[in-house]
Amino acid sequence: MLADLEQLIKLQQIEDEAAVARARIEELPAMVETLGARLEASEGELALTQQKLDDSRSARRELEKNLAAVQTRLDRFREQLMLVKTNKEYQAMQGEMSAAEGEIRRLEDEILERMIEGDDLTAEVATASAALAAEKKAVAEERAALEREQDTLERRLGQIVDERARHVGTLAQEMLSLFETVAERRNGSVAVRARDGRCSGCQVRLRPQLFNDVRTNSHLIQCESCQRVLYFEPEAAAPEGGTAA
Ligand SMILES: [Zn+2]
Repeated sequence: MLADLEQLIKLQQIEDEAAVARARIEELPAMVETLGARLEASEGELALTQQKLDDSRSARRELEKNLAAVQTRLDRFREQLMLVKTNKEYQAMQGEMSAAEGEIRRLEDEILERMIEGDDLTAEVATASAALAAEKKAVAEERAALEREQDTLERRLGQIVDERARHVGTLAQEMLSLFETVAERRNGSVAVRARDGRCSGCQVRLRPQLFNDVRTNSHLIQCESCQRVLYFEPEAAAPEGGTAA
């Protein structure tokens, strides 16, 4: 292969690897943010369940207070019952007492319901609490993995920058200028493969003679449409050892 061509391809590989590393580094903060949001959701779930349990408990305390008040009233009726003089008064008192007893049964039923609800909610709080603990652990691990990845990428990027500098030092000035000119116009894509008679940079079909020249890799040939530098790389061997022209 022509040495200039080989050097341009090498420079392209270096730049591509750097671009991939930079793009990945740029993605990382959003991924870390997603982890934070996951943790917040889990914390919110626990807080909500805890709030339901607190509300249920205070509702139960309120019912118990009411129950105590009705029981006091009922006790008072019982005492007063001894003191009534007439049958009419007696019946009125009985009516009050039976209303109070009805109220007590209703309150006891409601308290029982709240107790069952409290047990369920206590279990839910335990579940949410365990889920949060698991999520905290998972998030911490994933966060650490992302930080390690970032360190690795930044270290690698530093090496790539050095490699690029060393490599550029071996390039002829006009090759470097060519690379930079095309890179600026084509978003960093300079040396591209010619495949199936096409420029893989802009997909334009190459003249057959031009494609044949590219296949030799012995000249510096630019795509007539996009000016990218073309090179040829045989396809990976077909399974049946085909007869590609
Ligand atoms: Zn092209």
